[in-house]
Amino acid sequence: MFLPLSKREFLGSRFNPRPGMVRALIYFDHNATSPLCAAARDAWLTACERFPANPASPHRLGARAETALENARQSAAEFLECSPLDIVWTSGATEANNALFHHIALDASAEVWVSAIEHPSVLEAARRSCHSRLKIIPVTHNGVVDLDWIESNLKRSRPSLIAVMAANNETGVVQPWKEILALCCKYDVPFACDAAQWIGKLPARGLGQCDFVTGCAHKFGGPVGIGFMKVPPQFKPFIVGGGQEDGRRAGTQNVAGTLAMMAAWQLRERQLASGETKQRESWRDAFIADVQRVLPEFEVLGANAPRLWNTVSALMPAMEDCRRRWVVRLDKSGFAVSTGSACASGKEKPSHVVTAMGLSSEGDRMLRFSSGWETSRDDWHALAAAVISVTHAQGFPTSLTP
Ligand code: PLP
Repeated sequence: MFLPLSKREFLGSRFNPRPGMVRALIYFDHNATSPLCAAARDAWLTACERFPANPASPHRLGARAETALENARQSAAEFLECSPLDIVWTSGATEANNALFHHIALDASAEVWVSAIEHPSVLEAARRSCHSRLKIIPVTHNGVVDLDWIESNLKRSRPSLIAVMAANNETGVVQPWKEILALCCKYDVPFACDAAQWIGKLPARGLGQCDFVTGCAHKFGGPVGIGFMKVPPQFKPFIVGGGQEDGRRAGTQNVAGTLAMMAAWQLRERQLASGETKQRESWRDAFIADVQRVLPEFEVLGANAPRLWNTVSALMPAMEDCRRRWVVRLDKSGFAVSTGSACASGKEKPSHVVTAMGLSSEGDRMLRFSSGWETSRDDWHALAAAVISVTHAQGFPTSLTP
């Protein structure tokens, strides 16, 4: 409990968008950012008090902050199953992805293969760093990276890097990163995995076997502005001007942010270990079934692929300025949902993910509903009722229309 009830703005899965507002918004946009959880908030406040010094400072307070940071590094390494020496703290996944391609492009002849559905911080960093030496790995209609394409191309040539995300932020489709890692090991090609949407929703174990891994706290209840990358010791810094992080990322470390991130990560790994996702996935699936009973054209993207338990991206019945209108109508009904990636929302262009799945003309009908750990079965029920009610209000034909 953060504040007295009357002042509280975030209530589990609900937000009061304006202080004093009676009706809360139910939040279904966790893939964009997930609100700070109580454990992370407590860890952050405690760290601000207990570790006020710069971890690089030579006095005892500095040493204490450094020890806290190193313990956090040890925990991250245990979750990922890698050496703590490989963990570098960053400001988030965008910075980490940019740093990665900066490092790779120091070899001016480096060719990289990157999946078509990567987050823009991977795609644009790869494009800027590697120009014409970038190959795009296609995906299937279900939004899964094409493993056959990777294997057949690896038989002919060896890039300097293959980058495929662990789970897609827009569709929630889980990518076969373990199989790609095995192919990369077989053909001796470094593999990078953006795990920003995986960590905190699925167990992180084994990810540390990838040569490079990137992630951030705010997708699983940690604060915005802190993340990490798993990189080799010889990694060349993108941000220079200090010897922190063994010379791999300059800048005073964010001790409180790091400890808050680790508190959230620990909580999520505990919840994952106790099998709490099964039930949540069934609530999500019941939402899909409830809506589809009334609205058969509600088409779930990647429906035949494994998906994160919290995500549904679906094509909505068309209306003018479709995605924005659906978001506004659902917002007025009390639900915060998204048009896809937070970075692409507000733009008219259909998302590159939907286009890569061969659905470019339908892309402007896509909405994303992404729940969090606090989202309840009732929240999903209420969302289904709201989608159905907007459908009726708009006069869309439904299975109930005579
Ligand atoms: N990678 C993926 C898959 C994401 O979903 C996001 C955030 O939307 C990022 C990278 C960027 O993360 P950050 O907000 O920490 O820069």
